[in-house]
Amino acid sequence: MKNENCFKLYTDAERAELENTCRLYMDFLSKCKTERECVKEIVYQAERAGYKNIEDIISSGKKISAGDKIYSVCMKKAVALFNIGKQSITKGMNILGAHIDSPRLDIKQNPVFEDGELAFLDTHYYGGIKKYQWVTLPLALHGVVVKKDKKVIEINIGEDENDPVFCVTDLLIHLSQEQLEKKGARVVEGEDLNILVGNSPLAGEEKEAVKANILKLLKEKYDIDDQDFISAEIEAVPAGKAREAGIDRSMIISYGQDDRVCAYTSLKAMLDTNEIEKTACCLLVDKEEIGSVGATGMQSKFFENTVADLMYIMGEYSEINIRHALKNSRMLSSDVSSAYDPAYASAFEKKNVAYLSHGMVFNKFTGARGKSGSNDANAEYMAFLRDIMDSNNVHYQTAELGRVDLGGGGTIAYILALYGMEVIDSGVAVLNMHAPWEVTSKADIYETEKGYKAFIKSV
Ligand code: MN
Ligand code: MN
Repeated sequence: MKNENCFKLYTDAERAELENTCRLYMDFLSKCKTERECVKEIVYQAERAGYKNIEDIISSGKKISAGDKIYSVCMKKAVALFNIGKQSITKGMNILGAHIDSPRLDIKQNPVFEDGELAFLDTHYYGGIKKYQWVTLPLALHGVVVKKDKKVIEINIGEDENDPVFCVTDLLIHLSQEQLEKKGARVVEGEDLNILVGNSPLAGEEKEAVKANILKLLKEKYDIDDQDFISAEIEAVPAGKAREAGIDRSMIISYGQDDRVCAYTSLKAMLDTNEIEKTACCLLVDKEEIGSVGATGMQSKFFENTVADLMYIMGEYSEINIRHALKNSRMLSSDVSSAYDPAYASAFEKKNVAYLSHGMVFNKFTGARGKSGSNDANAEYMAFLRDIMDSNNVHYQTAELGRVDLGGGGTIAYILALYGMEVIDSGVAVLNMHAPWEVTSKADIYETEKGYKAFIKSV
């Protein structure tokens, strides 16, 4: 298979199928901007495709077998789906893994303040961001506030066209002489990422009347008082829908494509696949952007515990069976890869970088400075995947993140590799990764979904 621009190769029928795939993907991106929103939508789609909640199966005492479809949710922020194959699970699973958290600004626990008759919400950013990219663009607030009586209030302000939006202010260019002499990392400081939420004072209030008015409105509209922020998770994200990009409409621009582009295509491959030989798993986790930590991150025992539960309801549970099921599995650990950008050509090595529209990306390794921190996929596994992709007419490319010794990044691959299974990093190339608006190619999304479908059917 030649490494070339996929758009050159498509028939009209393929092009129509590609547009349909991407339309559904853009709907998902526009609807799901937090890990909780992703899990909610994934469960909705999974149930419609016949997946059942593992908790219900366990409490019913029923046993499951080949053809059954199961899902398990961890704290509303991570989810695993299983399609039980005909082969014994101890022979291993085909696993598609990706993450559903994305960089953003999280609202602090004591956030509301007033200065200069302007009211703000203070934030602490989440994940790796270039802070200067997050000022002056319209932001929406998504999340939950949990009251002491356990009532969960869902927040979503700024996505409806009639909603207000928010922003972080920046200094006018006329007075920026000193600011612009600072290093890029300090042009905008983390502590200055405050979200502007109001300017009108509450009548009759003497002190901090603008803040008082915001608190009054929050109480009236959402039944939230300032103490409730203590038990809230509210994320400020770029407001607005995913859009087609380019005069030729060949690309997609959206918030959160790292890593919802891999999460969505993995999910779609899973939901579109019915009878299979090997048990398939789609694992969509949280906290990748801050090191896969916490109960909902890949380092937690959620996945292993779920596999134990699954084998229990299959009547195959034993410690040794679980070890075998995990060791004999293989995984596509899917995450975004950097796409070649001619404006920053020197950051890449042209023979070993992903190009937009050249298809699904395989990264034999990631890491930094001599591959440190990387999962390095075995040549034998790489050969197996080449064969599957070629025989299923999937266009793919191999890549490294960037030039040797320039930097690097990690994924969840190394964590699953701890079980002794075959794992490789794969996914979709992205321009301006981790920026508020990231760009992908429709062709890459189409090819990657095809690649995942081919992979989970492989024996
Ligand atoms: Mn990622
Ligand atoms: Mn990332």
